Amino acid sequence: MEKVNLKEQILKLKELQVVDKGIYALLAEKEKLPEEIKAKELEFEEKKKSLSVIEEKHKDLLKQKKDKELQLGTKEEEIKKLQGQLYSIKTNKEYSAMLQQIGGAKADKSALEDQILVIMEDVDHVGEEQAKEKERLAKEESVFKAEKKKIEDRIKEIEQKVAQLEAQRKNSSQGIDAKILAQYERILKNRQGMALAPVASLSCQGCFMNVTHQVINEIKMYDHIVTCEMCQRILYLEDES
Ligand SMILES: [Zn+2]
Repeated sequence: MEKVNLKEQILKLKELQVVDKGIYALLAEKEKLPEEIKAKELEFEEKKKSLSVIEEKHKDLLKQKKDKELQLGTKEEEIKKLQGQLYSIKTNKEYSAMLQQIGGAKADKSALEDQILVIMEDVDHVGEEQAKEKERLAKEESVFKAEKKKIEDRIKEIEQKVAQLEAQRKNSSQGIDAKILAQYERILKNRQGMALAPVASLSCQGCFMNVTHQVINEIKMYDHIVTCEMCQRILYLEDES
């Protein structure tokens, strides 16, 4: 087997790591975006509920108004009927009793008319409220749509960038020994996009586990790939002096 120049291989891996880090970061961002759209959708749906509450109130008031108008019609019929009966009454006593009954029915009628007026005022008031709410929701909807589009555009942008980086990745991985590349890619997958870790201040910068002088010497020898005992990342020295 041809002996690989490990120092050179590590340099190539470092280059590849920069590209892979970019790809992983973009994909992680992309993964969260559909949830963001969904959350905004739910938020908007929630806002729409206030309008349906007002619409219900409006409908209910109109129904109340109709009921009262029916009652008023019945009352008017009753008064007419009683007034018609007045002429056929024979005694004064019966006459004044009938007048009293008509008076009571007229008072009822007047009360119904007052109630209808109050309901009509409420109908107007709620109608205005409804119009305002519709206007507010229309604004909310355009804000929501703009936000949604912004996120969708970002998803497309990420897809383009990832495609570019994938092409770059192909270039960067050229010349890397197949076995080393396979090891690197295995770690990359297990360690969410970071397969390499520099050693600094006697610790692995991937997991901050202590690294012995012996391990550092092994790295400097470039005889075999040295990995962190704790996180399994491929270790290298940023500054060998
Ligand atoms: Zn480590």
